[in-house]
Amino acid sequence: MRSGLPAVPPSNGGCGGLRIWTVFSMKLDSSRVFAFLLLTATYTATAQTSGQVSQTVFGYSNFSAQAKIEEKFLAVPDAKMAGQNLKILTAEPHLAATPEDHKTAEFVAQKFRAAGLDTEIIPYRVLMNQPKAVRVEAYDANGIRLMSGPTPEHVENDPGQDNARVVMPFNGSSGSGDVTGEVVYANYGRLEDFNDLAAHHIDLRGKIALIRYGANFRGVKVYLAEQRGAVGVLLYSDPQDDGYFKGDAYPAGPWRPETGVQRGSVQFLFKYPGDPETPGVPSTLDLPDAARIRDYVGLNGNQPSIISIPISYHDAAPILHALKGSAVPQGWQGALPFSYHMGPGGVSVHLVSDQDYQRRVIWDVIGTVKGSLYPDELVIAGNHRDAWVYGAVDPSSGTAAMLESVHGVGALLKQGWRPKRTIIFCSWDAEEEGLIGSTEWVEQHSSEMQRAVAYFNVDVAVAGSDFGASAVPSLKEFVRDVTRDVSSPLGGTVYQQWRLKQPSTNKPLTSQVPGDDVRMGDMGSGSDFTPFLQHAGVPSTDISSSGAYGVYHSTFDDYQWYTENADPHFVYLQEMARVLGLETIRMADSDVLPLDYEAYAREVSGYITEAKRKASDAGLSSLDFAAAEAAAARFASAAKRAHALEVSAPGNPAKLNSALRQTEAAFLWPNGLPNRPWYRHTIYAPGQLTGYSAVEIPGVNEAIDAHNSELAAAQLIVLTTVLDRAAHTLNAAE
Ligand SMILES: [Zn+2]
Repeated sequence: MRSGLPAVPPSNGGCGGLRIWTVFSMKLDSSRVFAFLLLTATYTATAQTSGQVSQTVFGYSNFSAQAKIEEKFLAVPDAKMAGQNLKILTAEPHLAATPEDHKTAEFVAQKFRAAGLDTEIIPYRVLMNQPKAVRVEAYDANGIRLMSGPTPEHVENDPGQDNARVVMPFNGSSGSGDVTGEVVYANYGRLEDFNDLAAHHIDLRGKIALIRYGANFRGVKVYLAEQRGAVGVLLYSDPQDDGYFKGDAYPAGPWRPETGVQRGSVQFLFKYPGDPETPGVPSTLDLPDAARIRDYVGLNGNQPSIISIPISYHDAAPILHALKGSAVPQGWQGALPFSYHMGPGGVSVHLVSDQDYQRRVIWDVIGTVKGSLYPDELVIAGNHRDAWVYGAVDPSSGTAAMLESVHGVGALLKQGWRPKRTIIFCSWDAEEEGLIGSTEWVEQHSSEMQRAVAYFNVDVAVAGSDFGASAVPSLKEFVRDVTRDVSSPLGGTVYQQWRLKQPSTNKPLTSQVPGDDVRMGDMGSGSDFTPFLQHAGVPSTDISSSGAYGVYHSTFDDYQWYTENADPHFVYLQEMARVLGLETIRMADSDVLPLDYEAYAREVSGYITEAKRKASDAGLSSLDFAAAEAAAARFASAAKRAHALEVSAPGNPAKLNSALRQTEAAFLWPNGLPNRPWYRHTIYAPGQLTGYSAVEIPGVNEAIDAHNSELAAAQLIVLTTVLDRAAHTLNAAE
């Protein structure tokens, strides 16, 4: 799901998420080459470039035996094989619940079985729409037709664009209907954009909102438009955000061509993901209809009631060009060759959307390797398999990479290795429609999730050469460690290239993490880690190698685009297969779970300090943070003691590991967050107004943003309670 679209200004908001960390595409200049040589000189001694992994690693009393296992693993993932996987996976459009989707499930299952994984294809029946008809016509004030569409996506020499199985541009979860109304341009459709319209006394009731992609999750745009009375939404890709303004458009380059359309879900994901009819309940085939809810449409559900249609800037241009009204405020002007106006006036559009909603069968593929020492403890890795069209970058690069991780694990199994903990590889379905396959599976296995020690996600594995990651704080150093032992196609290690490309802030991230160490995003949403972390409380990470990528969710995200723009020799697929595989194996075989709660405590106390500052800026200075600060201090000292225990490599770490595993779940609040009980994590959630990027201590922060001091005070009590519970859980390790 996550977009390649950097948020505006180029800080990030999720894809997701693209939500999460941004694209730092920089050309290596001389000073960087020198910096790189210096860096390599420093690190090469132990770096993986020599095929050797580190000799001491957090979580291991003696790493030497594990180092050999990891070196064997790292030698297996093959770039060519990964390229073949990608070619097979992207041979046909594979939208969720279609025969082509089932074919990819069979392919993945066959690969899992060949590697020796105990493999199942798990079906769920979930409510999803597919388009029967989508039409857009625009007329000027005299009734002259300005355009009719959607115009088919078409460029020179793209092999897959005329395939009859390419689904017409549509939005998952869109309403159906036939509406006509005047157009109002609402920029990115953020809260501040709608407030700007209100400040210009522009009433959206009965209007069609024209909104450009970027800055926040498209479901939030439609939610805010519906909340203000719009009867329909047109979502378009402005060339300023991912087209020619960024660079050459496909097929000449990686950016979005004139007729390229971004499909995508407009589900109110930030309310709850998954099957709209079964929040919190798995949509297994035997689920009685009576167990399904009815009121899931509208602002209190997770589906818009209004129509939403995605179009290209080829189709949006005549509408924007004819629009009258006030000149747009600063920051609203896009890159089309005329000045933009807010409307209404000058143009009205007629929208037809006929969405075929049915309960459709989808397929997750689950491959398991039972643990030899701690079979009850689960290490889970996953990637979604379904795509809007060919999905070469999103998500099939992730699927192709994960299959090479599985290939490596299979090679170790054939040499007699058995992981200490159980490893589960998951190929999710219907992620694009709302994280559905992963959410139904986590809801079905909610009791087992208490035994899950980590979830490692990869969605868009490769869109370019810029590695990045987001993680819960307890796993950030773990990810850094893993990337120190994987070689980069650019030379040196993934960690070195990551560090080189990330501009140093020199501002220490925290007292312990130097300012120039690689930064990672916090976990918002936009991909399959959400049910694991924010519903089940499983420590999670998400990795990706990003770059200039403008064809997200269009017909042109295909094998040709991939080999011409992202990774012609599939060496980044190989890199990502190694990183994901090493995360999984290293966690599965660790003596003590490498979860660093001192890092977590540092970040949480930073969030409380930041919220306190924001509250006083908002005039809510009566809000009392003392109890939460004291609880954060108690959590920090418990984390310090636990960390000392971890590095002391205790003989029998069972008690310690159980405490470390349960601490993340201690942050869950049974009643969930205000207005969205499905989201139970009190430290991280997708913002209700961002949809992708994370809001930290969301209950407190969103109450402060809403100037609701009573709710903020109540949420501070919740935060205090869970921090004390986390401290108590860690103290039980002694
Ligand atoms: Zn995706």
